[in-house]
Amino acid sequence: MADSQQFDTTMMSPSSSPLCVTLRELILQMDISPDALVIVDHAGTIVMVNEQAAALFGYSREELREQRLEMLLPESLRAVHTAHRKHYFAAPRTRAMGAGLQLFGRHKDDTEFPVDISLRPVLLDAEPLVIGAIRDMSEQRRVERERMQQAEQIRLQAGLIDLAHDAILIHDSVSRVMFWNKGAEELYGWSSQEALGRITHSLLRTHFPSNRADIDAHLEAHGHWEGELVHTCRDGRVVIVESRQVLVRDVQGYSTTILEINRDITERRHLEQATQAVHAQTVTRLDFLQQIMDALPSGIYLVYGQDARLMLANHAAASVWGAEWHIDQPMQEFLVTNGIEIFDAQGHPLVPRDFAILRAVQEGETVLHHQETIRRPNGSLLPALVNAVALDSSQWRYLAGEETEPTTQYSPMESVALVVHQDVSALKEAEYLKDEFIGVAAHELRNPLSVLKGFAEMLVYQTARGKGAKLAAWQKEALEEIGEATSRLDKLTEDLLDVTRLQAGRLALSRDPTDLVALTRRMVSQRQMTTRQHVFSLDTEHSSLMVEMDKVRIEQVLSNLLSNAIKYSPQGGPIELTIREEVEPHVAFLSVRDRGIGIPIQQQARIFGRFVRAENARASEITGTGLGLYLSREIIERHGGRLWFESTEGAGSTFYMTLPLA
Ligand code: ADP
Repeated sequence: MADSQQFDTTMMSPSSSPLCVTLRELILQMDISPDALVIVDHAGTIVMVNEQAAALFGYSREELREQRLEMLLPESLRAVHTAHRKHYFAAPRTRAMGAGLQLFGRHKDDTEFPVDISLRPVLLDAEPLVIGAIRDMSEQRRVERERMQQAEQIRLQAGLIDLAHDAILIHDSVSRVMFWNKGAEELYGWSSQEALGRITHSLLRTHFPSNRADIDAHLEAHGHWEGELVHTCRDGRVVIVESRQVLVRDVQGYSTTILEINRDITERRHLEQATQAVHAQTVTRLDFLQQIMDALPSGIYLVYGQDARLMLANHAAASVWGAEWHIDQPMQEFLVTNGIEIFDAQGHPLVPRDFAILRAVQEGETVLHHQETIRRPNGSLLPALVNAVALDSSQWRYLAGEETEPTTQYSPMESVALVVHQDVSALKEAEYLKDEFIGVAAHELRNPLSVLKGFAEMLVYQTARGKGAKLAAWQKEALEEIGEATSRLDKLTEDLLDVTRLQAGRLALSRDPTDLVALTRRMVSQRQMTTRQHVFSLDTEHSSLMVEMDKVRIEQVLSNLLSNAIKYSPQGGPIELTIREEVEPHVAFLSVRDRGIGIPIQQQARIFGRFVRAENARASEITGTGLGLYLSREIIERHGGRLWFESTEGAGSTFYMTLPLA
């Protein structure tokens, strides 16, 4: 109301009663007033306006003269204004118009603008008039609006600052707290009121990373600082905070305040420390494990994942392979890169899915005493016994420490296997010597045996033809016994020689197309003649099935299977054979089933080994050498077929074999 006051001091007495003026005075005042002035009579007719008023409303002074005052008002205010005017003229006094209301004027171009109006009653030649001093408030309102918006923004920001969990504080150049948000109250325990004015580092007993002067120097030089501080809270708790500080300068460039945001990272630090401790423990454990593994003579390693990637290996492992298997390298890639090959006990190349290691990681199998021969990059052969034990992830985690970052790319979902490669060269050497000895012994036995057998047969035969004295029954029986014993010995020496032939790779096959059905029928009927307790049957829909085979050798296999079926079912019972043709692959399939003593489960895996006999066979005092199945499988596999079995101890066994069809 500065201008209306000015009007008051220049033209009007402070009294609120109408002032008597002359027209001259009025005109003069109108012209020199910086405000827009409008004079109206009691009927609301404009008596006079000054230049400022005309310009404010966009008219010329002439256009306004004698016009209704309402033309300068927005339509919505006109009716109210008329009522107010009448009321005013009834008791005129100097006052601001529409106190507490937002007043608007109407421009000639119909736009409306905020105004502030002061009223002053005057008497001109005894006629009551009112002088209205009008000020355009547009600019002032805009400034007010902006100020309000800024205030609102500041209020929101203050709210935000209080919402933050971080401690936000402002301190002056001597570290006196000037602002302390809710986050700071929560973290440190002092309320804002308690903290204001205190020296921050004394209040919080700050431990600086190096010293305070360094931080101050950094702030001074760069305007900001970031780092970790240790603070003590009101309740004595020590917290580690991640602190960010910014220096604020005044216009002269003097530092005035420091804005500081502190984030509590105590828990994170403790977790990190715990993790580091576990990690260190794991590393120690793995080191220890490595030392133990390195001290062992066998090649030992851990592999993981479907493709058996190396996780850990001891020193001996490198000498097993004759090449370095890199950590995380898949097994197959390692073998191929180094030209390493793996063979089975009989010297046949092994397909990867039969590698003990891959079986352990892919099938979760525990493979024990798997005989494999490794051909190293330099061509030397290493016979090894492989044990591959699938570990479940909890076992591995225990080993590696629960919380650790794995040292390899191993993921806990992947399978892990512990592998031990035992060099059995020395054993193989001994075995070789044994085979040599067996070969020599069998060979040397052959001649005296055939002499013995020949003479025993000759004695029986010649006596039967009437040559020499007739033999007493006991003599005949003794000679027959000798004959049978020499036959058994003969078979044994033949088997032993076969074993040595096989070992030396000298077991040659001479194959011809032979009817497997006819061969089997003949052998079954021969066998049926040797036993009454057992009943043989052959089930087949084929009258013949031609197989390229070494007839003598296949007879040897069938003979072994049939005599085992008889031998290992001492109580007798049915012995059922089936023969059928299979399409995929195209093979002849033959099975021999008995209801005998069966093979104990724990010995089944080794039953095709040399000289291997099941415990129940020995316990039942059934004679045997443990060579028949070994030879049979070799013979069948050399024909390109397979020999396997299913057996339940006490319930019987079924042996299966396949031979490729022409
Ligand atoms: P042998 O019968 O001379 O001992 P084999 O190599 O033919 O040797 O058989 C090896 C072992 O397999 C036998 O000692 C026996 O324990 C077991 N076996 C073989 N066939 C049968 C069968 N049909 N029933 C039970 N056990 C068998």
